[in-house]
Amino acid sequence: MPAPTPAPTPTVLSARVASIAPTVFSEMSALAVRTGALNLGQGFPDVDGPPSVVAAAVAALEGGANQYSPGIGVPALRQAIARHQQRHYGLELDPDTEVVVTTGCTEAIAAALLGLVDPGDEVVVLEPYYDSYVAMLTMCGAVRRPVTLRAPHFRLDPDELRAAVTPRTRLVLLNSPHNPTGTVLTREELQAVADVAIEHDLVVVTDEVYEHLVFDDALSAEGHVPIATLPGMRERTLTLSSAGKSYSFTGWKVGWATGPAHLVQAVMAAKTWLTFTSGAPLQPAVAHALDHEPDWPAALAATLQERRDLLCAGLEAAGLTPRVPEGTYFATTDVSHLGWADGRAFCLALPEVAGVVAIPTQGFYDDAEAGRNLVRWAFCKEPEVIGEAVRRLAAADLAR
Ligand code: GLN
Repeated sequence: MPAPTPAPTPTVLSARVASIAPTVFSEMSALAVRTGALNLGQGFPDVDGPPSVVAAAVAALEGGANQYSPGIGVPALRQAIARHQQRHYGLELDPDTEVVVTTGCTEAIAAALLGLVDPGDEVVVLEPYYDSYVAMLTMCGAVRRPVTLRAPHFRLDPDELRAAVTPRTRLVLLNSPHNPTGTVLTREELQAVADVAIEHDLVVVTDEVYEHLVFDDALSAEGHVPIATLPGMRERTLTLSSAGKSYSFTGWKVGWATGPAHLVQAVMAAKTWLTFTSGAPLQPAVAHALDHEPDWPAALAATLQERRDLLCAGLEAAGLTPRVPEGTYFATTDVSHLGWADGRAFCLALPEVAGVVAIPTQGFYDDAEAGRNLVRWAFCKEPEVIGEAVRRLAAADLAR
C-alpha cells in the first residue's frame, strides 16, 4: 500500500508576512515558561519602574483620560519629550510639530519606515539588526543593505558603510546603544555616518531606546551621543526612543519620534493608519516620569552596570567569554567552541542542559556566518536570578 499523501496545509499567510521569521523573543520566553528555566532571553526587567509614575497612570485612569488622545500625542507628553531632548542633549524641538508619540518605539520604527520608504528603496542598516527592522523593511518592500558590526569587538567599519550606499539608498537606519551587541557608537563612528548621510543627502532614522542605559566605563567617555547633535544632522535625523527601557515599563508601549517637522509628519502620516492614537492614560504618566523622575534612568544604569559585571564574570567562569557591553542590558558570547551546530541549537538545548534561556542572534544577520554561534544574555534581572543562572551554567556540561 502506498503511504497516504498528507493533506496539503492551507496557506493562510500573506506573502508579506510569510517570509518574515517568527520573533525569537516570544519563542524563547515561551520556552522558559514551558521548561521553568531562568529567562535571560527576552529583554524585560523583572522590577517595574518608579511608583510615582504608576500612581500618575492610576490618577489619569481615574481622572477620565480614557478616550482618544490627539493622534500626535497629548501636549503634556510632547512638551516633556522636548524638555528631555533639551536637558540631556541641547536639542531644541517644537513640541507641536517636531515630536510625535507612538505605541512603543516599535510603532515609531514601523511608521518611520512606512512613511519614508517606497518598494525597491534601499535602506542601510546595522547588522546584527533588531528583528522588527527586518520585518518592517520587508513589509515596506525595501532592500536592506547591512553594515556588519563584527565579533569580537562589534565596531562600525566606515568603509563598509560607504560601500553599502548606492544611488537607490533612501535612508540609514541606525541603532545606538545597539541591541544585541551592546556597542555604543563613538562620536567618530557617528561622524562617519553623518559624513555619508550629508554627502548622499540621506535621512537617518536612529533608534535610541537604550540612550540612558550606558555604562560609565564605556569606550567613549561621553557615553551616548545622539547623531542628531552632530553638525548638519538635526535637519535630516529622526530620533526614536521610548519609556520602556529608560523607565522599566516595557509593557506600556509609549514611544516617540522627534526631528524636523517634515520627518515627524511622515511618521504621523503612517501612524494615523496603524494605531491612530496611543494609550491616553499612559501618556501623562510618562510625562510625569520625564519631568519628575529625571534621575531614575541614571540610577537604573548604575545598577545595571553591577549586574552586567555579575553576569559577565559568571559567563567567563562558565567558559563563555563575553563581549562586555558598553550599553543596553545585553551581553554576547560566542559558543562555537562547545560543538553545537549553531547558537540556536545551543539555546534550544540550554533549558535542559542548564535550566537557563538565552537568545541566539544569528537570525539578526543576513551574513549567517557572522552570527552563527553568537548568543545574547540579558542582565535586566534581579542579582539573585543572574547569580543563580551563572551558577547553573558553571555547573553544567555545556559542550555538545
Ligand atoms: N527588545 C526586547 C529584546 O531585545 C524584546 C522585545 C520583543 O520581544 N519584541 O529583548
